[in-house]
Amino acid sequence: MALLVYSGGLDSTVMLYKYAAESRADAAVGINYGQRHIKELEMARWNCSKLNIPFFDVDLSSISGIFGDSSLMSKSSSMPEGSYNEAGMKATVVPNRNMIMIAVAAARAISLGCDSVAYAAHGGDHAIYPDCRPDFVKALAEVLKICDYSPIRLEAPFLNFSKADIVLEGARLGVDFSKTWSCYKGGDIHCGKCGTCVERRQAFASAGVCDPTEYEI
Ligand SMILES: [Zn+2]
Repeated sequence: MALLVYSGGLDSTVMLYKYAAESRADAAVGINYGQRHIKELEMARWNCSKLNIPFFDVDLSSISGIFGDSSLMSKSSSMPEGSYNEAGMKATVVPNRNMIMIAVAAARAISLGCDSVAYAAHGGDHAIYPDCRPDFVKALAEVLKICDYSPIRLEAPFLNFSKADIVLEGARLGVDFSKTWSCYKGGDIHCGKCGTCVERRQAFASAGVCDPTEYEI
C-alpha cells in the first residue's frame, strides 16, 4: 500500500485517483511549507474526502524562512509569466522541496505500515525542477530502501508522462479537474498567465480534453 505526497494540484490529484482505482491509496499527506497560498491543499482535502482516503495535513510553515526568495514563497515577489522553458521560471524553484516532502511522507508511511511512497513528478518538470528528475528519483529511491528496518519503495508513476498524458489519464479516471488547483498566484480563480497556468492550459489543449478551469484571461 502507498502513502501519497498530495498537494491538490492537477498531477497529484490524477495520481490519487490512479492509486485509488488500483486500491493502493492507503493515505495522503499534504504539506504546508509556508508557500504563498494553500488553495491546493483545500482541493486535496476535498478529493480525499470524496474518495474516502485519509488525508494528513502537515504544517511545516515555520520552515518557510529557509527557502530564500523563491517566488512561490513570497507574496511580495513578482511571479514570472510564460512557459516553463524560460529561464525566468527558475524563480519558482523551492530549493529541495521534494526531498523534504518525500522525507516527511516516508516517516508517515513507516508509522502507518505502508511499503511505498509516491509523488507526481512528470516529464515536463525535468527542465526546471532538479528534484523532479529521473536521477533524483533513482538516488532517493535507494535511500528510502534503507531508511527503516523494511525497505520503502519510492514511486513516481508519471515520471515519463507529459502533462497532457496526465490530463488524459485523469479524464479516463473521471477526475473532476475543477477540483484541482495549479495557479502559483492563488487568487480567486486561475490567472492563466503564470508558468503553471500556461502549462495547464496547454496540457488540456494537447490532450483534447475540455478544460473546466476558469481563468482571468
Ligand atoms: Zn496562474
